[in-house]
Amino acid sequence: MVAVDGPSGSGKSTVSRRLATALDARYLDTGAMYRAVTWGVIRAGVPLSDPAAVAAVVAGLSLEIGTDPSAPFVRVDGVSVDGPIRGAEVTAHVSAVASVAAVRQQLVAQQRAIIADAGRIVVEGRDIGTVVAPDASLKVYLTASAEARAQRRSLENAADVAATQADLARRDKIDSSRAVDPLTQAEDAVVLDTTAMGIDEAVARLRELLDT
Ligand code: C5P
Repeated sequence: MVAVDGPSGSGKSTVSRRLATALDARYLDTGAMYRAVTWGVIRAGVPLSDPAAVAAVVAGLSLEIGTDPSAPFVRVDGVSVDGPIRGAEVTAHVSAVASVAAVRQQLVAQQRAIIADAGRIVVEGRDIGTVVAPDASLKVYLTASAEARAQRRSLENAADVAATQADLARRDKIDSSRAVDPLTQAEDAVVLDTTAMGIDEAVARLRELLDT
């Protein structure tokens, strides 16, 4: 099992999916799970500032996530939410929902069950090497400069670079300072800075690490 952690725009998703395909492994995007339950909380209309209400809604959701790297999907109560979870509204609120301890407990349990069933799998997120699967055979922490990360995300979303950089900085701050399972580098993670690195190079480097 390979754990790939790091902030948004570090190249995590693309690198993890490509690596999973190259290894003929499954792929799990845990960020999509946090985004999907955030969509469910917004749909329910409860105040996002009320952790107990947020946790209660999430506890009642049925979350399904695909692990085929060539066809990822996520559904909430049977509704396909792949488009909406990448939208501005979910992106604005996901870090708040992901800060609720009971939400994390529930999703971490589901992630561990998927990993246990999967055999070979590449899992990406913020706390995979530290919390979800500390016994992963390879832990990678992907990073890149704030400018490079904002540039990539703004290209993906056709959004303004400065606004994207501000949004990434806001989410990084919440993700790394929350009380429960903050984004941190696992002590035994290999750090890969992708600022000046292409996707192919990053995937090749990870394959080398797996072979050694
Ligand atoms: O990876 P992505 O940007 O889609 O993740 C969205 C948000 O989900 C992150 O900003 C973070 O708040 C939360 N997240 C998390 N733990 C994970 C994966 C994502 O808290 N393992």
